[in-house]
Amino acid sequence: MRYGETGFNLEVDLSRGSIDRVETDPKLTEMHLGGLGTSAKILWDRVPPETDAFSPDNLLIFSTGLLCGTPAPGANRTIVTTFSPQTLFTAYSMMGGFWAPELKYAGYDKVIFRGKSPDLVYLWINNDKVEIRDATHLRGKGANETAELIRRELKEPRAQVAAIGMAGEHRVYFASIEQGRSSASRGGIGAVMGDKGIKAIAVRGTKDVNLAKPAEFYQLCQQVLHYIKDREDKPIPGVMPILAGLGSPQEMKLIDEEWHTTNFMWGNSRTRRKDFWTKEIEKKWEETQTAVRKRLISCYNCPMKCGATIAVPGISTYMMKCFTKLTYTMAAFADLDFGFKIAQRATEYGVDGFSAPQVMAFGLELLEAGILKPEQFDGMPSDNEGRFYWLLDRIVRREGIGDVLANGTYWAAKQIGNGAEDYAHNNIKKQEQLPLKLGMLNPVYYLMYSTGEKVNITQIEGQFPQAPFPTMQEREDFVKDWVQVPDDKFKDYVRKWEMRGEFSNPNYPDVPASCDIVDWQEMMHYVDDALGMCAGLSSFPLKPPYHIHNYPEFISAATGMNIDEAGLMNITKRNRTLLRAVNVRKGMRRADEKPPEDHWKKRFPELEKQLLDSYYKFKGWDEQGIPTKESLKELDLAYIAEDLQQRGIIQNGQS
Ligand code: SF4
Repeated sequence: MRYGETGFNLEVDLSRGSIDRVETDPKLTEMHLGGLGTSAKILWDRVPPETDAFSPDNLLIFSTGLLCGTPAPGANRTIVTTFSPQTLFTAYSMMGGFWAPELKYAGYDKVIFRGKSPDLVYLWINNDKVEIRDATHLRGKGANETAELIRRELKEPRAQVAAIGMAGEHRVYFASIEQGRSSASRGGIGAVMGDKGIKAIAVRGTKDVNLAKPAEFYQLCQQVLHYIKDREDKPIPGVMPILAGLGSPQEMKLIDEEWHTTNFMWGNSRTRRKDFWTKEIEKKWEETQTAVRKRLISCYNCPMKCGATIAVPGISTYMMKCFTKLTYTMAAFADLDFGFKIAQRATEYGVDGFSAPQVMAFGLELLEAGILKPEQFDGMPSDNEGRFYWLLDRIVRREGIGDVLANGTYWAAKQIGNGAEDYAHNNIKKQEQLPLKLGMLNPVYYLMYSTGEKVNITQIEGQFPQAPFPTMQEREDFVKDWVQVPDDKFKDYVRKWEMRGEFSNPNYPDVPASCDIVDWQEMMHYVDDALGMCAGLSSFPLKPPYHIHNYPEFISAATGMNIDEAGLMNITKRNRTLLRAVNVRKGMRRADEKPPEDHWKKRFPELEKQLLDSYYKFKGWDEQGIPTKESLKELDLAYIAEDLQQRGIIQNGQS
């Protein structure tokens, strides 16, 4: 009997129309756990690096995490993995909601798609009965609308449906996959789903997930729930509101947006409005938000209620969490009500809320600069908000100027030429990044932005405070109950970190401390991504309920694996290195690991070089960011070393 996992994947060949239930090798779970770990292994083994994102040979993998479907609070992430049309590397976007646990209850750990369907279809997984069904009548429908229509068609109101909107159907490079209360948005995975001709995947499962030690597991879950309650009663003082508590940033509860609106850039990530937030704005935004927010809601088996149902008069109700209310508002220099209105349409179209607003603002900036011509915007309304709606409608249909903008700012700028590349200024690895531009270089963030492969800073950061505490008393208060640290040296880093002077950014955290901090943050995200745990209860917030000391107990009680902290760290390092190897084999090198030029006003080329050199070394990679033969062997990845050597990526003679 398999514990924690079902031990079966669904393999769907869309070109042949075949569906196979395939038993998986338990050794792979021991090596990589599940989720992103085993999906990266499948990509390495089965998709040659030359494979284009839109090739039938590219795989699109929907994976549960190892703890999904168990009673562990917050273990509900679906990890979608494929080769990205935008970055040309691996995209591995996550969504919360309800889909992954439902797939486990249907009896599967992953659904792996290959090939392409000749026409639009959806997959219906109803426990053991799985069928590919016609979806041509759903062409052009919104993502939420599609989910509703499918549930009605199947007469199964409890089916969980992941769907694309028009953007995915038209292979927009920043198309998302939407799923009721969450979405997987980064890297253009929705475009790959559309390219394969899959409109949606509906799933209903009523089976059990076996636990190796259920009583022990239940006790661990109780401890987490108690901790969450306790932690919620004790917000962390001295940090911005979204970091004081747990969960995904509580944007639906919080009204105070001073930090985001005055620190993040507006428009095409260029304009800072330091004096924007006033008492009047706060009152107005509070009225707007409380009027449209109907109910706070959670993902599967979680008490945190990070999302909300939003009902704007005259348009369908939808769900929102996180920053999307701000990304459209700020890109258009508009008011908060605009953000809530356009996000409904954008959710139905299925686009990434980080990229889409920046792409539209970029298009308008090119028009204002004379690089794009007025005739290319023929028919566009003159008011600011109208211009955004008009552009969004064209991008998701790839009509007119929307066709080039649908490729994202990096590729669109290359196609447009004539100086447009200077305006695509907020990319990392060819993908739009958060519009956060600051004065002084932060060495920890420099490393995270440079080397992160999720290309989404909010899903790389966490655990360590984002800024120093002003007084020693505050630092001592912060570290005194900091049980999550893997080592007490992290407490010293907090104690030593000053706002100004010798021990402040960019020189402190110094190079070794920065490597330690980034490695810890990254490790926790890789654990979450293998287990299917929401980062909002683990790797993202300060002092979370899940951490490196209690995770091994959860894994052991769920699966029966005999795993300790060192073992978990080793698996995580293996997974992180494996993903790096997949991307290195696709051509990723040091030159790709560059934050935007204007990300910080004050830059320090020497220090940045030293940081990157040291971090690569720390991780067991060479000066190009390629894992060394020796480090691969240590992680039982000698087969990767051999492959990279045969391809000349690792040079002969290198150790
Ligand atoms: S913490 Fe928030 S985002 Fe995470 S699972 Fe819970 S409700 Fe969902």
